[in-house]
Amino acid sequence: MQTPPWDSPLWIAGRPFMSTERARVTLPFDGSAVADAAIAGPAELEQALAAALGATAVMREMSRFERAEILRRARAGLLESAGNMADLITRESGKPLREARVEVQRGAMTLLFASEEASRLHGEEVPIDAAPGGAGRRGLMVREPVGVVAAITPFNFPLNLALHKIAPALAAGNSVVHKMASATPLSGILMARIFAAAGLPPGALNVLAGSGGVIGDALVADSRVRLVTFTGSVPVGAHIRERAGLKRVTLELGSNSGVIVAEDADLELAVTQCVPGSFSNSGQVCISVQRIFVQQKRHREFVERFEAKTAALRVGNPLDEATEVSSLISEAEARRVEQWIGEARQSGARLERGGERRAATLQPAVLTGVPPDARLMRDEAFGPVVSINAFEQLDQAVGMLNDSAFGLQAGLYTRDLESAFRIARQAQVGGIHVNQTPQFRVDQMPYGGVKQSGLGREGPRYAMEEMTEAKLITW
Ligand code: NAP
Repeated sequence: MQTPPWDSPLWIAGRPFMSTERARVTLPFDGSAVADAAIAGPAELEQALAAALGATAVMREMSRFERAEILRRARAGLLESAGNMADLITRESGKPLREARVEVQRGAMTLLFASEEASRLHGEEVPIDAAPGGAGRRGLMVREPVGVVAAITPFNFPLNLALHKIAPALAAGNSVVHKMASATPLSGILMARIFAAAGLPPGALNVLAGSGGVIGDALVADSRVRLVTFTGSVPVGAHIRERAGLKRVTLELGSNSGVIVAEDADLELAVTQCVPGSFSNSGQVCISVQRIFVQQKRHREFVERFEAKTAALRVGNPLDEATEVSSLISEAEARRVEQWIGEARQSGARLERGGERRAATLQPAVLTGVPPDARLMRDEAFGPVVSINAFEQLDQAVGMLNDSAFGLQAGLYTRDLESAFRIARQAQVGGIHVNQTPQFRVDQMPYGGVKQSGLGREGPRYAMEEMTEAKLITW
């Protein structure tokens, strides 16, 4: 690691690129300087788009074998740089080092799955002669790359969520302009270097830091872009969808994920999984456990066990090996969550533990009896806070779970298979996990939300369906 603050470039046309504008990146935990990151303006965006467009022909003609090979080599390169990459992720995002290491391993899996899907990408024969007018004709539906993909990503998983866009886009033969979150403009540049060393043609991946409202907005509207894949908040996602016009759009947005714990559940399992499910990355996970509904008979016991495990979490500097929970991305965010906790208490909720704030760090907070109209129940908290409310009957709990504008993932703890499947069918979410928390994700699975949680699915195979056009050829 160089002495901070070091200069971090953009990545355009296969090379590092220093722009004149810089922004200081600091460790969110204590505000110490990390790097001065180059910021793209309209001129750099133009160069990135031109480079991406220029690379579409070579990417389109590249064999599946070669695309898969590049992705496999990028995976090997990432694993070789795992230590550096984890360190960068921690310094830019403030997530504990141990979680950053997991993110790097997950990113390597995303590359592996994308390389496998690159080999498998295929169309199908269409039975044209099944129609009376089709006798004597054959038909083939082939899947072709869309062209330039705009990938816009958030701060909370700066590597793996970017790879969930870049890897399938390249596997499908597209080129990419990646706009990183302004808070986390470092790890994406190291990843671009790794791709270049893996043999990715210049221009196939261009990586920019810069204001969402300026270059993000211009990127979404540019006519050279054929698909926008966005992960981030609901308001920005809604704006992007409007702005994108007739382009394809994939939106992975927020949520306030719920978990139902039935009275027959294995409480030890539920508590052991829900505590990290609520507090990992300080709750800044789109599928963080925010609302827990426990059947009345076991509610108090669950809360007591949950509190005990929460109290044992080590809160501190993210660079410290032992730290399990660290700061939020900024002090402003920590203050917002603190305020929401205060509002919930004023409307009758009970703060069982936590909630004290120091700069950008908030002690993991556990509340009970939170009214359904409190912001902690209605909106996305995106912080280290969980509400544990009681319910009487399971069917009532499904209503509570579904009483949300969001629908990304849910969890359910029960030993009763029949009620598990009944609730799974009734839950209004993109995915539900029985005897697991909503925070469960492995990188090949279909992942995405319903309602305000988004449009489309990620996971390399599913993302590649969105990132290719079906073309029919008959003869
Ligand atoms: P955000 O504020 O929506 O920003 C996400 C990205 O969009 C950033 O790169 C941002 O750039 C950019 N952006 C902002 N305004 C834009 C515009 N007008 N046009 C184009 N791009 C624009 O989200 P965040 O605070 O980084 O991340 C937290 C949110 O992401 C939460 O809501 C969380 O639930 C969601 N999320 C969802 C998933 C999922 O898979 N469903 C996963 C992770 C996170 P700047 O940084 O420059 O503003």
